[in-house]
Amino acid sequence: MPEGPEVECVKNALQKLVGEKIKKIGLTEQSQKYKKYQGKSKQFEYFIGKTIRKITRYGKYLVWEFDSKKVILNHLGMTGMWYLSNNGEDIKSATHPKLFIETVSGINAVFSDIRNFGQLRIFNNLSEIKKYSPIKDLGIDGLTLPFPTELFIKKLDEKKYVNKQIANILLDQKLVAGIGNIYKSESLHLAKIDPRKIVKNLSLEEKKRLASAISQILQKAVKSGGSSISTYRLPSGEEGSGQQWHQVYRKQYCANCNSKIEKIIQNKRTTYFCPKCQK
Ligand SMILES: [Zn+2]
Repeated sequence: MPEGPEVECVKNALQKLVGEKIKKIGLTEQSQKYKKYQGKSKQFEYFIGKTIRKITRYGKYLVWEFDSKKVILNHLGMTGMWYLSNNGEDIKSATHPKLFIETVSGINAVFSDIRNFGQLRIFNNLSEIKKYSPIKDLGIDGLTLPFPTELFIKKLDEKKYVNKQIANILLDQKLVAGIGNIYKSESLHLAKIDPRKIVKNLSLEEKKRLASAISQILQKAVKSGGSSISTYRLPSGEEGSGQQWHQVYRKQYCANCNSKIEKIIQNKRTTYFCPKCQK
């Protein structure tokens, strides 16, 4: 599942579309097999002739703005991917196309989604999106530089977090937006913190280490083009290389101490950690 860094990489690649005027846009025939897209093709026709002004990221969401009021909120879900091609060539890698865009200058973009958990929703304006609860409730963006360590530590003291296991709350987008399962495990390993540790038992030193680890891991992931564990690809079709430096996620042995990595389930989500390095 694409996490904040993967969505950031997709957003960066999509910047090529900014300033482009839409010639064609529409839901594909295949999308009509799914209830959430049925009969909604007409709604996208509104964007024909409009120019893409901005594509920004809010947590794991992408927001598409045009030279018009209406905006598109887009989530990649588990397997959503954007593919881009120049010169009007077909985009063959898009095996499960849901939305296509063709610009006046001949760039093609296709949103493909195998498992169909992705979202493409039209809102009347940007402020409506900002009031939409998952967006409105987003916490610290994990990719903020410099990372707001003090605010992070303050948030960890909130009543709703203090009695929970640290690994579980790192997935809460209201605390830090952009962390998913991979970077949760990697951040805790880098910070040398046991994922089962209860938040109120973390020392100030550990909290600072965790803030720094989250920031380092997420930044490194963006520089790597994201992590291609299963389906995630960049809009060019290329794989990210984050998986090459992962220390614990789906690993057998700790790169630090060679101990066997443990795999546990916390709140129905898998966590990988080294029982020797992480205390
Ligand atoms: Zn270790």
